Amino acid sequence: NADTALYRAKAQGRNNFQFYAAEMNAHAGERIALTGKLRRALKNDEFVLQFQPQVDIGSMQVVGAEALIRWHHPQMGLVPPAKFIPLAEETGIIVPIGEWVLRAACLQARAWLERGLPPVRMSVNLSACQFRKEGLAGLVARTVEACGLDPAFLELELTESMLMDDPNSAIATMRELKAVGVRLSLDDFGTGYSSLNRLKGFPIDALKIDRSFVRDITTDRTDAAITAAVVSLAHSLGLTVVAEGVEDAGQLECLRQHGCDEMQGYFFSRPLSAEPFAALLRTGAVCA
Ligand code: C2E
Ligand code: MG
Ligand code: MG
Ligand code: MG
Repeated sequence: NADTALYRAKAQGRNNFQFYAAEMNAHAGERIALTGKLRRALKNDEFVLQFQPQVDIGSMQVVGAEALIRWHHPQMGLVPPAKFIPLAEETGIIVPIGEWVLRAACLQARAWLERGLPPVRMSVNLSACQFRKEGLAGLVARTVEACGLDPAFLELELTESMLMDDPNSAIATMRELKAVGVRLSLDDFGTGYSSLNRLKGFPIDALKIDRSFVRDITTDRTDAAITAAVVSLAHSLGLTVVAEGVEDAGQLECLRQHGCDEMQGYFFSRPLSAEPFAALLRTGAVCA
């Protein structure tokens, strides 16, 4: 009857609530534990960088390296950034992690140059937290200076969402970074909400077409048309176009036909540790 039904609903609601609260606690507990582990990881030097080559499509020469963080956890092994970057951003611990990445990437770039390897750009991903924080340009200037790296070799990768929240203050920060002498690129282009039309207001040097467009470029006419439009607009704005996630020769051929400048992806090489990357620079061949 109605009373029983009401009782059931209440009981269920209560159980659901208790269950939910327990889940939340477990979740919060895990998050706190992981945040503590990230702090210790920083102290214990458990982060490492891998480098994925960026290749000029015309000459097939390596022209850049994207630094990609991994967490070398003593028990968990090599943890990919998707497993810890989002929480690191929420808790703000991405700021000291990001400073570590910037410094480690600059030191590596300098070390390769000193060994007489062919000079390549070093790209570093910035998080929204880092980008919003006061004093970023000063930090970047001090870091390249301390590492003895010409800032022209450093590229910072930003994402559309970082620019769209508050475009005017983003432009101000980007101008400060440009004044330091670094390059700026727009990562994962096409996944955010910025229109092609907004691009002209941003002082960027390169645009990275997200791999979701590259994936089906040989079979999906829409993706191919979008890529063609992005390349031609980017070129008219004087930007270099890099395609992300190139996994086969067909995609490369298609991108070449559309006039894309550079590519990055498993077809050429997965991200490599510093030594295999240096060997690649030396010989021009992939040895992973
Ligand atoms: P991203 O900046 O777009 O980096 C490209 C990601 O695509 C990398 O994943 C790379 O390994 C992967 N990738 C490259 N080529 C291919 C391909 O051909 N096929 C497929 N399926 N994937 C490919 P990774 O290293 O796991 O990094 C994921 C994301 O984590 C990065 O995306 C970036 O947003 C973030 N990230 C990585 N390192 C850092 C860092 O030092 N700081 C910050 N803030 N974020 C980072
Ligand atoms: Mg990137
Ligand atoms: Mg990307
Ligand atoms: Mg990404």
